[in-house]
Amino acid sequence: MLRYARPYRYLAYLNILFNFFSIVFGLFSMTMLMPFLNYLFGTAELVRDPEATGIQAWNTEFIFFLKDITGDDPGKALLLVCLAVVVFTILKNVFRYLALYVLVPYRNYTVRDLRNAVYKKVMRLQLSYFTEEKKGDTISRMSNDITEVEFAIMTSLEAMFKGPFQILVTLVLLIIMSWKLTLIILVLLPLNGFIISRIGKKLKKNASRAQGRLGLLMSLFEESLSGIRIIKGFGKEAYFFRKFSTENKHLTTINVKVNHSRDLSSPLSETMGITTLSMVLFIGGRMVQTGTGIMDPTAFILFILLFAQVIDPAKSFATAFYNVQKGAASADRIEEILRIPETLKEAENPLTLSAIRSGIEFKNVGFQYTPDKKTLTDISFSIPLGKTVALVGASGSGKSTLADLLARFYDVNEGHVLIDGMDIRDIKVKDLRGLMGLVTQESILFNDSVFNNIAFGNHEVSYEQIVEAAKAANAHEFIVHMDKGYYTNIGDRGGKLSGGQRQRIAIARAILKNPQILILDEATSALDTSSERLVQEALNTLMKNRTSLVIAHRLSTIQNADLIIVMENGRIVERGSHQELYAHKGLYRNLLEMQQMV
Ligand code: ADP
Repeated sequence: MLRYARPYRYLAYLNILFNFFSIVFGLFSMTMLMPFLNYLFGTAELVRDPEATGIQAWNTEFIFFLKDITGDDPGKALLLVCLAVVVFTILKNVFRYLALYVLVPYRNYTVRDLRNAVYKKVMRLQLSYFTEEKKGDTISRMSNDITEVEFAIMTSLEAMFKGPFQILVTLVLLIIMSWKLTLIILVLLPLNGFIISRIGKKLKKNASRAQGRLGLLMSLFEESLSGIRIIKGFGKEAYFFRKFSTENKHLTTINVKVNHSRDLSSPLSETMGITTLSMVLFIGGRMVQTGTGIMDPTAFILFILLFAQVIDPAKSFATAFYNVQKGAASADRIEEILRIPETLKEAENPLTLSAIRSGIEFKNVGFQYTPDKKTLTDISFSIPLGKTVALVGASGSGKSTLADLLARFYDVNEGHVLIDGMDIRDIKVKDLRGLMGLVTQESILFNDSVFNNIAFGNHEVSYEQIVEAAKAANAHEFIVHMDKGYYTNIGDRGGKLSGGQRQRIAIARAILKNPQILILDEATSALDTSSERLVQEALNTLMKNRTSLVIAHRLSTIQNADLIIVMENGRIVERGSHQELYAHKGLYRNLLEMQQMV
């Protein structure tokens, strides 16, 4: 994840720098304790001891300095000591705030870039990745896991940077004061670290399971939302709730475990810290009592207090470590998306293509979604420029798959799809899709105005052009009768419109794009007969002078196609014009007669 933080690493360096100053000033304010105690206990009558080193010598010098400037007035000296504490504390906290201040953009910019990266990646993924079950999980990774990364990892960074740093600086000071006592601490600390990391490992495993469960739960919720009409219609609310609450229960069980072990970090490290401290108190106390130590009692008190200062960062370091473990599970889940190999690759030196001149050809095409089952076998046909080819056949015979291959949503496993004799895998993907217009059975509209749904990201288009496209698509009439005309919001997925209206807006969008190649995938199948007529008229306008691949359920709509291809189980079983196929008395005629009976 830190790859995304790299551009902002200067902020992390600033954070470390500010933390350093904050720690140093904090220690300064602590060391003021020694002269304070000296004054309080009246032991300020010091003599310069040539043997004394480190803190003790520094303290003596400081007291002599205080004596000089206060004219040997202990009251004034005490006041100066206390003022120094205040000044150092202010400085310490100013730097602490600065350290936090630079960390905020560091954290937020990194997470912003991460979100963008996930979005871009998801847009590049092959369509088959988005089977229903994965949608909710992908959304969950985008929202919950990224939030988890932001809070668990990025907020812990501070403690991760600062903790070891503060411990190190304090330890240096402790070593200066008494290396013997410090040695005892140094033996005990790694032991504590070992125990903490053992629990951390378990935490990460559980956290990963918890996020996975949350993904499942989100998938269920997503599914329930998109299927709410059916769930209500069948009165299956209770059934779906049971499914949801069972999953919710599993999630909660793991979450409880995760939270329990995370909460363990702070009490555990405090207990271990204080135990260590007591040992130091005993050993150091004996040194002072028996006079074998090199420290006087005030120095020892300072030593203990400084050591206590290590416990706090060690504690927050342990907490941060646990949070990072928890967040690492989410980071892994985000990485998983970012690492999915992209199967649809742009050719190394892609050919550019601005217009098609001769036509489209499928040449011995074979395709399979899964290795064990062939979806399309040996498909060959061509669509000359400006002609229309219709695909018919029972559902599941592979018609939509064939259309998806032309738009290069998937790549063929055998044979070639050619445009003007060029394999579409060699053509720039952007150019290829630029040639195509797509109208599907479920017209895909977005929660935006009619205008924006027709313009669809094309900023140069004028109001007049939109109206013209809508008129050609038989949509103008009903659009102007909506409350805000072209600026009416059409709701989620166009929910405020009827199926036929949605379809006509989708057709207007295709007309506006003015593509040379048109793919119509059961564009009228979901409509009733009267709106089908309006939509079919719009489609006829759209198809004029274009090269079209039309998938039709209702055979009456494709009788004028230049070529009709009849498919069964992924193979072409008949081909010809309507008259030829009708005369042939094969599958096509069968299908046609069945529909006419209805
Ligand atoms: P049609 O459009 O003629 O109804 P499709 O092209 O949608 O047929 O489906 C052809 C076959 O491929 C079906 O057996 C279907 O189950 C299978 N299929 C479609 N999409 C996928 C997918 N994403 N993964 C695996 N199999 C799929």
